[in-house]
Amino acid sequence: MVQTNLLQTPIDYLKGVGPNRADLLRQELGIHTYQDLLNLFPNRYLDRTRYYKINELQRNNAEVQVIGRVVHLKTVEHKGKKRLVATLRDETGEMELVWFRAHKWIRESLKINQPYVIFGKTNWFNGFSMAHPDMELLEDHKRSLQSGMQPVYPSTEKLANKGITNRVINKLLQQLFRETRGRFYETLPSDLLAELKLMPKSEAMINIHFPRNGELLARAQYRLKFEELFYIQLQLIARNLSNKKKIKGLPFEEVGEHFKNFYNDHLPFELTNAQKRVIREIRNDLGSHAQMNRLLQGDVGSGKTIVALMSMLLAVDNNYQACLVAPTEILAQQHYNGLSALLEGLHIGIRLLTGSTSRADRKEIHDGLKSGSLHILVGTHAVLEDKVKFKNLGLAIIDEQHRFGVAQRSKLWHKNHTPPHILVMTATPIPRTLAMSLYGDLDISVIDELPPGRKPIKTVHRYDANRLKVFAFIRDEIKKGRQIYVVYPLIEESEKLDYKDLMDGYASIEREFPRPDYQISVVHGRMKAEDKDYEMDRFLRGETQIMIATTVIEVGVNVPNASVMIIESAERFGLSQLHQLRGRVGRGAEQSFCILMTGHKLSNDSKTRLETMCATNDGFEIAEVDLRLRGPGDLMGTQQSGVLNLKVADIVKDNEILKAARYYAIRTLKDDPGLKQEKNRPVAYTYQQMAKHKNIWTYIS
Ligand code: ADP
Ligand code: MG
Repeated sequence: MVQTNLLQTPIDYLKGVGPNRADLLRQELGIHTYQDLLNLFPNRYLDRTRYYKINELQRNNAEVQVIGRVVHLKTVEHKGKKRLVATLRDETGEMELVWFRAHKWIRESLKINQPYVIFGKTNWFNGFSMAHPDMELLEDHKRSLQSGMQPVYPSTEKLANKGITNRVINKLLQQLFRETRGRFYETLPSDLLAELKLMPKSEAMINIHFPRNGELLARAQYRLKFEELFYIQLQLIARNLSNKKKIKGLPFEEVGEHFKNFYNDHLPFELTNAQKRVIREIRNDLGSHAQMNRLLQGDVGSGKTIVALMSMLLAVDNNYQACLVAPTEILAQQHYNGLSALLEGLHIGIRLLTGSTSRADRKEIHDGLKSGSLHILVGTHAVLEDKVKFKNLGLAIIDEQHRFGVAQRSKLWHKNHTPPHILVMTATPIPRTLAMSLYGDLDISVIDELPPGRKPIKTVHRYDANRLKVFAFIRDEIKKGRQIYVVYPLIEESEKLDYKDLMDGYASIEREFPRPDYQISVVHGRMKAEDKDYEMDRFLRGETQIMIATTVIEVGVNVPNASVMIIESAERFGLSQLHQLRGRVGRGAEQSFCILMTGHKLSNDSKTRLETMCATNDGFEIAEVDLRLRGPGDLMGTQQSGVLNLKVADIVKDNEILKAARYYAIRTLKDDPGLKQEKNRPVAYTYQQMAKHKNIWTYIS
């Protein structure tokens, strides 16, 4: 068994690594110890298990391995450039090998009429050729310990220039396995290995670096991916469990007057089953003496606001205050308006706090919060500021999580001596797999049902050239009494251009829809807050039929009579943004439409996005596509890298392994919460090591 100690040996001590190489390995690949080298996993593998005959080659530019003899060598000059061309022959045919550099060296070292194993990418042009092939004499090839699947390690230009090639890394790893005898500490319990038929650690390490064939490689990869995801999940779940035990929550034992009163007499509609279920889940948390940390996912329009309100009423009924934090001023304002209307006649103090709240109002709010006369505070990031102090904050709700970092969440924690309960609401559906990895420390509730009577939005893609038809359609809809959104992209770097697009669009719509028959609102980021509000309000009251806007209307805005969403330059929006925008319509009983306008030139990704939008209204499905197109890091828009910095597993592709890893992590902790059982010794040990350090991969080998 290799001691962790031995693996902590500085890389300088490995035979074949001098001071220069050690420096390079440290700088370029972050390899400081034996262990770091061991955990340098290949990016990919070259399949050298198969030898092709020349007449078996396909015109597909594949990497292949061929055995043959060089029968002829010549220098060819073309447009002043020389290349060296060799003819390689086997019993089935001939092909060419080509070098554009290093002619002299090749000429001197190449052995004519001797069997070689060559490897490289084929090209076809009046016959097959291969540029700069890997070559090895057949007899050397037979003698070397080369594995069938040849690993290709991550590298950098500097490493390559300094001669630390893939082959050198490979040699160093061979040396490392020799010195450590290739026997490594097993990190998974034996019953789990047996149950899942996982490859033992030492075997997996050998096979990830020196796989003999594709099957062994696949098993090694599976085992290491499982291990990686298992420990990430174990960490998240253990943290969640221990939070529940350690962090005492404020017990909201009462379901009191306000909640009951609201439920019986003020609820404007029947709750959907999904809403009822989620409220029950939240009520259980709040009454449990443990701090709630819950993520509430629900597609746009699924009715999260009412859930938030009823949760806040539970807080108020138990003599605690609550706050609701939204990412933008417009949204905060809308929440405030909506909630105030719902709370009418209930004698609950509610105020709005944003960056533009006047000093006098601010003072009143601060006083009200301190005395406890103010029960619910709605606002923007302004709520998080240190000078905003509550008498006893019991519940903090964050709307639209993806714009909030973990740091901001933790600010809320410190607003009370005992941390308040936290409910995070997001309308950007996060694929469940990703949610599990990112928010494994949160419990998850999902509203997976829209309020009744909604007609699915019809979405179409139209080219700019068909604009007149689109205008005619708008005219018809307005005649029926509907309202229309026209949205332009706003991307900060080219704000000026975007602004011009918007203004040009405005001018052309004004020409088509002249006053006084038509009234148009415009809202964009360069306007003062009051002016924005004024225009929004006109649209909301139905005084204007068309709202031309940048993406400021993206989230939350609610105008049920608006039934058409036109998105200009739709190819410039990401999927989740398109979905959010589309969610602004379809809120009333009428059939709604979303028209995606684009030019003719579209990238493949843009096409996929547009097709996805036209094909489905399901936010989760859209999120899955988005995740595939963009990768997880981007999707979140923040550096959640800590969790997503996976070495072997891929959160998108290894979905199934992630599910299994999560299942077994939960089972392990349920059976043996303290990891005290004999069989879980390796888990306890690895877990302890992980807790001491940040990087799991420093410890799981
Ligand atoms: P979101 O989840 O996007 O925040 P909202 O809470 O804004 O959704 O709700 C969207 C619209 O649906 C609002 O107009 C709201 O009043 C309405 N709504 C919510 N729940 C129901 C329900 N159970 N029945 C009917 N309408 C509902
Ligand atoms: Mg909302």
